[in-house]
Amino acid sequence: MTVDQARGRSVRLLHHDASERPFIVIWEVTRACQLACTHCRADAIRFRDPAELSTEEGRRLLDELASFGTPRPLVVLTGGDPFERPDLVELVEYGTSLGLSVALSPSVTDRLTRAVLVDLHDAGAKAVSLSLDGATADSHDAFRRVDGVFDATIDAARTIREIGFRLQINTTVTRGNVRELPHVLQRVIDLGASLWSVFFLVPTGRGANLEALTAAEEEEVLHWLHDVAALVAIKTTEAPHFRRVALQRAGVEALDDVFPPGPLRSDLRATTAGLLAGRESAPRRPRPPIDVNAGRGFAFVDHVGVVYPSGFLPVAAGSVRDHPFPQIYQESEVLRALRRPDGFGGRCGRCEFRAVCGGSRSHAYAVSGDLLGEDPSCAFGPATVG
Ligand code: SF4
Repeated sequence: MTVDQARGRSVRLLHHDASERPFIVIWEVTRACQLACTHCRADAIRFRDPAELSTEEGRRLLDELASFGTPRPLVVLTGGDPFERPDLVELVEYGTSLGLSVALSPSVTDRLTRAVLVDLHDAGAKAVSLSLDGATADSHDAFRRVDGVFDATIDAARTIREIGFRLQINTTVTRGNVRELPHVLQRVIDLGASLWSVFFLVPTGRGANLEALTAAEEEEVLHWLHDVAALVAIKTTEAPHFRRVALQRAGVEALDDVFPPGPLRSDLRATTAGLLAGRESAPRRPRPPIDVNAGRGFAFVDHVGVVYPSGFLPVAAGSVRDHPFPQIYQESEVLRALRRPDGFGGRCGRCEFRAVCGGSRSHAYAVSGDLLGEDPSCAFGPATVG
C-alpha cells in the first residue's frame, strides 16, 4: 500500500491548502502565570508583560484570523495562564462573534473558578484543556511544583464538563512519568475527556531540565498510543511521526509480528490491560491523526505578537504589529521553508513519509539549531537511506 492510498484512511487530511491558511492558531495572550511548572515552554513569569498585545491589538488579530474565511482557523488562547488577562471574556466573545471557534488552555490556579468558566462558556468558548502529567497527586504536583494542583485539576475537569465544554487533557511525557501513562489514560477516560493530547518533551524553556524519551522509547510509546486509540481520541504534540506509525500500521493484521513490542510497550500494555480489564466502555472508532505540522496548518503567536511556526520553535516569522497575520503566514520565508519537506535534511529529507510527517521541527532545532534538520526524536530509518 502506498502512503497516498493509506493516508486517506489512517491520517486525516486538511480540506484546504495549508500554505494558504492555518488549521489552528495558538495565541499566547499573556506569559503571566502563578505556577512554575518544571517543563514550561514559556518560562512563564509572575506578572503580565506591559508589552503584551493590548485588547485592541488582540481584536485586530482575531479580525485577521477571521478574514481567512471558511473554514476559519481554530483559535486556542493559551499562556502563561490566559485567565490572568482581565479582558479574556471580551476576547472570546469578540472572536466568537466573528465566527471563530475559540478554545482555552488555562493553568489550574484560584483564578480558574466556575463563575469565570460560565462567563467564558456564555461568551462562546467551546473547549478547555487542562494539564495532567501524573495520575496521582504525588506525581502531578511534583511536576507542577505546587501541592494541591492535582486535586484542583480533577475538580476543574468535572466543572468544565458540567458546564458543557469539551474537555481536552494534555500530558507531557518524560522518562520520569512514561510508565505512568496507562494510569493517566484511565483518568482521561474517567473524566470524559474528548481528546488526550500527548506532548513529547522538547528540550526548550524549563523543559530543558527534564529528561526526554529516547527515539526508541518514543517509538514504543507511539505504538502503544495507537494500540489504545480505540479507547479515547488521541493526538500527539511534537511527534508528527505518530502519522507515520499510523500509516505503517494501516491494514497490517499481525501487528506484533511486524512491529514486535519491546520491554517498554509490553509494560505499558500489561498495565493497561490490568487497569481497564472488565470495563464496559465500548471501543470507539480511532480518530486518525490530522496532517498538520509546524508552519504547515499550525502557527503560534506569542504574547507580544511575534508569529512562530510552533510554540516550541523559537524562529520568528514576523510580528502582527508590523504585518497582518495572513501575510506573515502565507509569505514568511521561515514558514514557506517548513512547507517544503523536500528541503529537509538528514533522514527526514529522504524519508518516504516526509510529506505527511515532516518530523518535529522543534526537536530538530532544539538539538541541532537547524529548523530544517533531521528530527532526532524519530527512530525510523527511511527505506531510501542506503
Ligand atoms: S524520518 Fe523524519 S519524516 Fe520520516 S518518519 Fe521520521 S520524523 Fe517523519
